[in-house]
Amino acid sequence: MGIFSGFKDLLGQINRIDGAVYMQGRDFADVYARNIALEEEIAKRTKELEQANQTILTLNSVWEMMNSSEPLSSLLDKIVSILHDDMGYTHTVIFKLEQDENGEYLSAKSSSVNKNINKAFEMLNTTMETYRFDYLPNSILAKSINDKEIYTTPDIKGILNMYFPTLNETQTEEIMQSVTAKTFAVVPLEKNKQHYGCVIVTSERSEITDTEVNFLSLFANQIELAITIADLFEEVKKQAITDPLTGIYNRRYFEDNIVKEAERALRLKQPFSVISMDLDYLKKINDTYGHQYGDLAIKTIANILKREARSIDIPARIGGEEFNLLLPGVDSNGAYIAAERIRKSIENQVLDTIGSITASIGVATFLEHSDRIDELIEMADQAMYKAKINGRNQVQLAHKQQDVNWQQIAVNAFAEVISNNRMYIDENIANTIIDKLNNIKVQEQSSKETLYSIADMISQSYNFSYQTGTTKSKVLLADMIAKKLELPKDSIDKLKIAILLYDVGNIMLPKEIYNKKGPLTPEERELIKQHPIIGAREILKPISNVQDIIPVVETHHEQWDGCGYPERKKGIEVPIMSQIVLLVDTFYAMIQDRPYRRAYSLEEAINKIKYEQYKVWNNNLINAFLDVIKDEIPH
Ligand code: GH3
Ligand code: MG
Repeated sequence: MGIFSGFKDLLGQINRIDGAVYMQGRDFADVYARNIALEEEIAKRTKELEQANQTILTLNSVWEMMNSSEPLSSLLDKIVSILHDDMGYTHTVIFKLEQDENGEYLSAKSSSVNKNINKAFEMLNTTMETYRFDYLPNSILAKSINDKEIYTTPDIKGILNMYFPTLNETQTEEIMQSVTAKTFAVVPLEKNKQHYGCVIVTSERSEITDTEVNFLSLFANQIELAITIADLFEEVKKQAITDPLTGIYNRRYFEDNIVKEAERALRLKQPFSVISMDLDYLKKINDTYGHQYGDLAIKTIANILKREARSIDIPARIGGEEFNLLLPGVDSNGAYIAAERIRKSIENQVLDTIGSITASIGVATFLEHSDRIDELIEMADQAMYKAKINGRNQVQLAHKQQDVNWQQIAVNAFAEVISNNRMYIDENIANTIIDKLNNIKVQEQSSKETLYSIADMISQSYNFSYQTGTTKSKVLLADMIAKKLELPKDSIDKLKIAILLYDVGNIMLPKEIYNKKGPLTPEERELIKQHPIIGAREILKPISNVQDIIPVVETHHEQWDGCGYPERKKGIEVPIMSQIVLLVDTFYAMIQDRPYRRAYSLEEAINKIKYEQYKVWNNNLINAFLDVIKDEIPH
């Protein structure tokens, strides 16, 4: 073989090898590319799987939650936090479509915490809960709800501009600077095939994938289910007629039935009676033996009521330790005998550890004592209260209402004060008030409410820092404290009038003082100090029915330690009723904003009042107040 052919051979071989290498290289590239594609595919599938897994876990926790009997609001809060924490959305809000006289709007039912949105609300001086999101027909929210489809948009700023049109450009920019979300998605919600509202989520991912859209729509189904179940639960709860602890009827059932019974009684001219009952010294039982023994005492009373009642009677638990028994067709004699029998049964029952318990009982009869339901119940309660202050463990029969009551007196007093023309009240307002006063029918159920709102209106007109809606709460709180102190009924009636009228002396002060923005001069302060006495002497003196109230109003700024005004009375010289007025006034002033300070929290106010013990108020009064306020604060 010559060199040439040998060379050619070699060349051929090289070419072959080259070719093979080339082929292999190409194969490698292919394989490599395929591997990468495969890896990507695997990564994508894994991610989808993870997402699906997360979806299942999330849906599962929503499902578990729905099996609980929680109210809708807390259910929605949990759903929002799941979306937020587990699915990594930067913000989630559930909206409900609502309607008022200004048209349709969206209200936020639940929302995750988001500092950017919070900032927007701070700038607007409002909150997510109270903000009215207009239902703008061209907005992505309205479109999604109407088309029943999930829509997304990257235009976060556009959304901000649309829903917060009163933010200016600088404010919007300030918010946008810290926004990290890139996508905004709206998921429509339905209930019974009707629009319910929508969920919005914002995400830092630049697009919302099909998988995510699937997840969101599954999630929306769960929310819809949660809403339906929670509503059903509410409905069922409303229909419940028994009290869970005792198994006897609840307040609602009692109230429904007394209405029916009253209709029947009026039609057939037959009486029926109400027995009102309250366990004696339950607090002592709770404190000495523990709450479960308190519960045992309550259950015992319920069982005795059930046992002693006829099958047509209705025994009901009205509140914690209060029971009522409705006795159809029974007059006051019969009801008194029944009540006495129940009282004895209670007294004779011996309970584990506690020994025996007692109850105080009041009896009132329809057509005999009153032909109005609310009045009848109030009279039974008052009789029960009388049984308490007479020493407990006894039955008291209601007394026919006296002709004049505290409301009537208060109405007349207001009408006289205004028509004597001594107030700085705009003539139109004065006429409206007088009109309303003249139209109050004291026998009507709503009369108290009207009276309170008039008292609020009057107080507002001479007191710039006055806030509405407090007269009623003040009267309720004073009433509760007085009952705790076991004051007799006529004193409590006087106290209620005093609460309505005590600040009336303010109307004699020059208007300039009340409109003054800056600090008061010593002379002006002195003038303000005189208001109790002015109010009492000059304004109330000519009104015959409120003479008893004058001493209370005159002394409602005196203190237990003698440091009050105007007369520096001390200790028991200061009537207990004036002390209650001052306490109620101080308490409500503390928990409201004033031009010169913010409102105290409830706890702060209570502590401040406790601190003044022995100084401003006597100890018994403070204890009664603390007892009352612990259970409920009238508002
Ligand atoms: P009085 O003889 O004046 O009725 O004294 P009292 O202690 O029974 O009444 P007071 O109104 O001072 O207190 C009632 C207490 O009853 C306060 C409250 O904590 C307790 N109570 C209310 N509901 C329940 C309940 O369901 N279970 C228990 N164990 N205690 C309750
Ligand atoms: Mg009690």
